[in-house]
Amino acid sequence: MSEHNFPAAIAIDGPAASGKTTVGKMLADRLGYLFLDTGSMYRAATFAALQRGVDIDNELAIVALAEQIDIEITNADEQTDGYYYLVYVDGEDVTQAIRTQVVDRHVSQVSAYAGVRQQMVKLQRQYGERGRVVMVGRDIGTVVLPQAPLKLYIIASAEERARRRWLERQAKGDSTPYETILADVIRRDKIDSGREHSPLRPAEDAVIIDSSGRDPDLVLEEILRLSCFTMP
Ligand code: C5P
Repeated sequence: MSEHNFPAAIAIDGPAASGKTTVGKMLADRLGYLFLDTGSMYRAATFAALQRGVDIDNELAIVALAEQIDIEITNADEQTDGYYYLVYVDGEDVTQAIRTQVVDRHVSQVSAYAGVRQQMVKLQRQYGERGRVVMVGRDIGTVVLPQAPLKLYIIASAEERARRRWLERQAKGDSTPYETILADVIRRDKIDSGREHSPLRPAEDAVIIDSSGRDPDLVLEEILRLSCFTMP
């Protein structure tokens, strides 16, 4: 199977810390595609609201803010920056700030607002239209790019996902306890899966991949092999 045969848009969804971002980034690099982690956009809107003192419970104000801010995502060098990409809100680098516990706590509420989703989906589709993109999130296969020829849904147990997030945080000097992170992962799964607008669920034609206990390299190989069956 040649990698030239890969579809132009690849949609990857799954719950928090399922491994979709790591594997999605590896896949994008392997194919020379753009990598877009849509969770960072919802995080950026949430951070902007917290920073500017906008009440998270005030849906109208949050939607107005999401429509008004300029979110920009650019490639980064993981070696030097420690991140796959950089995120800016109105020109301010918020890459690190959007990964904190306080943003984790509020992001699912912000992203449940229909007006926020409408705005983010509009931006995401603009990236999708350019083609050659690996887009990662919760509703990419179901809502943002339902026409994507290859849709993946990556899962792992909540405990393993929390452990991964905990290790990531520790490496960055954040000492949030494992139990706090696990509780947050479970709480976010519940809100993301139960919300009215674009709930987290696999598209009907998505391929489900369990990343539990598996090295990202192995998951990537499975995806590269899989594409043989999804091509027209
Ligand atoms: O993927 P990540 O954990 O960074 O996403 C943060 C939050 O953003 C998720 O818990 C979810 O509430 C929201 N999100 C979403 N739709 C997406 C991507 C993320 O609602 N496509």
